[in-house]
Amino acid sequence: MSAIEIPFNKPYLTGKETAYIVEAVQSGKISGNGLFTQKCHRFFEEKYGFKKVLLTTSCTDALEMAAILANIQPGDEVIVPSYTFVSSALAFVRQGAKIVFADSYSDNPNIDATQIEALITSKTKAIVPVHYAGVACDMDLIMEVANRFNLLVIEDAAQAIDTYYKGQPLGTIGHLAAFSFHETKNIIAGEGGMLAINDERFLKRAETIWEKGTNRAEFFRGEINKYGWVDIGSSFLPSEIISAFLYAQLENMEDIQQKRTALWNYYHEKLSPLAAQGFIQLPSLPDYTTNNAHLFYLICHSINDRETLIKRLKENGILAVFHYLSLHSSPFYTAEHDGRLLSNSDYFSDCLVRLPLFYELTFRDIDKITALIEQIYSEYNHAQAVHHYH
Ligand SMILES: *Cc1c(COP(=O)(O)O)cnc(C)c1O
Repeated sequence: MSAIEIPFNKPYLTGKETAYIVEAVQSGKISGNGLFTQKCHRFFEEKYGFKKVLLTTSCTDALEMAAILANIQPGDEVIVPSYTFVSSALAFVRQGAKIVFADSYSDNPNIDATQIEALITSKTKAIVPVHYAGVACDMDLIMEVANRFNLLVIEDAAQAIDTYYKGQPLGTIGHLAAFSFHETKNIIAGEGGMLAINDERFLKRAETIWEKGTNRAEFFRGEINKYGWVDIGSSFLPSEIISAFLYAQLENMEDIQQKRTALWNYYHEKLSPLAAQGFIQLPSLPDYTTNNAHLFYLICHSINDRETLIKRLKENGILAVFHYLSLHSSPFYTAEHDGRLLSNSDYFSDCLVRLPLFYELTFRDIDKITALIEQIYSEYNHAQAVHHYH
């Protein structure tokens, strides 16, 4: 049909990326843990107060590092929301863990923190809150339960850069946290991620696992006089080319966040009348969270409503997309799941739709998108009314 005029996402370049990549290449040091990597580390540690961060090649990798650091063993249980990306569970499954899936709240896709305690057994090792859409999970409640049962909390903060929970940056609250710089996130490096280490017990081992199980980082700081193989690990660190790109983004982070927030707020304002009439539901943000404007979603009444909406937007050149399919009923894991119904997760799987949101989106684009959504619902409403009359 018609060509796509408004894509769902468009990676934003701040302008300095290629210059910094050239600088990295010309410096002669293009493997990992060089100048740009260290600049990125310093940026995050100073801005957010992480005890330590390590850039990784993806958030998935950072989660895998967290699973190793948490010493997850075959038979251990890890509590993960069902409404999330595969990696939140996969990183622990690779270590042999059994995933115990938790449901979402009814009005917010995040893990329902009030139901976590009931899922804890003697085998539980960790809880993985995922801050969906960059909206904070109820971290006080999660940390309280985790501390009482001596469990680790690993925040999947892939979408949550620059969000604050009661004044604390996300990713600084759990024992460990993983971020993503995939090109679909707010701050990008193509493929990239970061592990934040907040619990001192993990500081030294994290660096070793990052450097393929060697104490190479200590050696290069001159702390030891030879380096060797001391632990398990992998090649989790990105090259300087990736970190050079990322650093250009970090320098423009405030501008990026301001623009995304303005766009998010405009969507919200424009769609509020439809929500007030009960046609759609808009994101509900708990008082304890700020909004990093990672994504704008709305919730339809049914999977059929959503299909119609996505189809009609597409016919008009606008790409809107649904999101996760509940992990507890995914082909890879359905046989392992204990059969509990997770109806809120399924509800978001069926009814949630994400609208285009990226730096270069314009307010006029949003006018067009929201006017179309209003039109679709007024026609739909009319059709329903006629149907009822007969
Ligand atoms: C994007 C995302 C990931 C994976 O990030 P990568 O950097 O692509 O590995 C993991 N969890 C969540 C919640 C995500 O949104």
